[in-house]
Amino acid sequence: MCEVDQDGGHMRSAEHPSFSKACVKCKVHPPAVLLRVGDPFCRGCFNEYFIHKFRAMLGKNRIIFPGEKVLLAVSGGPSSSSMLRQVQQGLSINAHKKLRFTPGIVFIDEGALTGRSLEDRHKTNTEIRILFESTGFPFHIVSLEQVLELPTSVLMWPHMSSTDRTSSYKVAVGEFDQNQSCAFQPPYQQQEPADMNKAHTLELQLLMASVKTHTAREELLNMLRQHLLLHTARTEGYSKLMLGDNCTRLAVKLLSSISLGRGAQAALDTGFSDSRYGDVIAVRPMRDYSAKEIAYYNHLFDVPSVFIPGLDFKTPDKNSIQRLTESFVTKLQTEFPSTVTTIYRTSEKLQSDCKAASAVDDRPLCVLCQCALDTSAENTSAFQATLISEQLSQSKCPKDCLQSLTDDKTKSAANCSSQCHGDGGCCSPLNICVSNKLEPMELKTLLCYSCQLTVKDMTSLEHLPRYIISEAQKRLRRFQMRAEISSFLLD
Ligand SMILES: [Zn+2]
Ligand SMILES: [Zn+2]
Repeated sequence: MCEVDQDGGHMRSAEHPSFSKACVKCKVHPPAVLLRVGDPFCRGCFNEYFIHKFRAMLGKNRIIFPGEKVLLAVSGGPSSSSMLRQVQQGLSINAHKKLRFTPGIVFIDEGALTGRSLEDRHKTNTEIRILFESTGFPFHIVSLEQVLELPTSVLMWPHMSSTDRTSSYKVAVGEFDQNQSCAFQPPYQQQEPADMNKAHTLELQLLMASVKTHTAREELLNMLRQHLLLHTARTEGYSKLMLGDNCTRLAVKLLSSISLGRGAQAALDTGFSDSRYGDVIAVRPMRDYSAKEIAYYNHLFDVPSVFIPGLDFKTPDKNSIQRLTESFVTKLQTEFPSTVTTIYRTSEKLQSDCKAASAVDDRPLCVLCQCALDTSAENTSAFQATLISEQLSQSKCPKDCLQSLTDDKTKSAANCSSQCHGDGGCCSPLNICVSNKLEPMELKTLLCYSCQLTVKDMTSLEHLPRYIISEAQKRLRRFQMRAEISSFLLD
């Protein structure tokens, strides 16, 4: 349809007579970008429009407090690189309405997954480092292998007093203004990329190889990535995590989420803010930009990005549900330009049960994606439908998961005590077997419907990172204990 010239960024188009007109906004300068038919923008007006959109998104939601530490997750791709530029611009001295938070950057090196050599990975990391250094912001380059060393606390809902959560934006603005006069700027620091541990690289590759389908592999990678980002934010003292998802990506994510049985979590997965972790809130300020707008902006204003092939690089469309959805949406978009916005607007109207649920301390959260468990939803869920069809095909009632689990546990505890050497190596003080093994059926009770599907596609659970297994075992022991003493408890 239209494309940007290599030299000046001026557009050519034979189809649109409107193109010869001047910029639709200032009506003076020649057009440089055509986002919608009949709405050409000149370079200057496009820049203004783009910057305004970012500020407006943050301003409207008022979720990032002045002075707050915000961690920008930058993958090197066009969208997150553009986000980084917006933050840089917003913090610059002569910015019109200056942003008032303190940024930091994180990059995850996922080279282990695509089997890249150490040399190759170092080269990319150096490129990323140079890019980050030029911003003057503190940055953290972490490797995906580090997910294997995460503590179980990453999966726990943090303890916060209610006052922490209700502190208002206005109060924060006041405090920020007061502190501004005597603000102490810590020296910008950077973190050395962790040495890539060969054993961990292999372990990570084994984990990914134990997943049978590309769909489940993508899902698992997504969870691990989120855990690592969350951990980095927590340990480095950031209370907000900025993600670069643009509206094209979110439209794909919404549709694939639904196909993957994540309907109950779709609002959190695609919304502006995601509060599932409690203390660290993820925000998506790029959600109003289309991939096309970002491509134009990056081209016209020389926003550098680093190309890094991911898991789905050059894979056929039908490889995974996520890839198939992506190609469906992008193909539809070329014929029907409002496809993405229509899907995206729908995502804005979604409300999640998870948000309210996670504020209640006692409701169990999925041990993988950390959303409230949707498996107890009464009716009309995909999970219930699956249960019913299983029931019909087996023509017997599926036992209550927890009950059967307790039975199994009692059995295994009995086995354990007969073989126990009394050295405490295999038994906890409560005489519950604490082997390192985790049975898929046991893990299933701790997962939401969609994560159950992901785990179902794994040939074994033995390569799951330690923190996931430990946390799952801990929760199972707690369930069992509760079941054992349930007859003594008052309702
Ligand atoms: Zn203009
Ligand atoms: Zn889940």
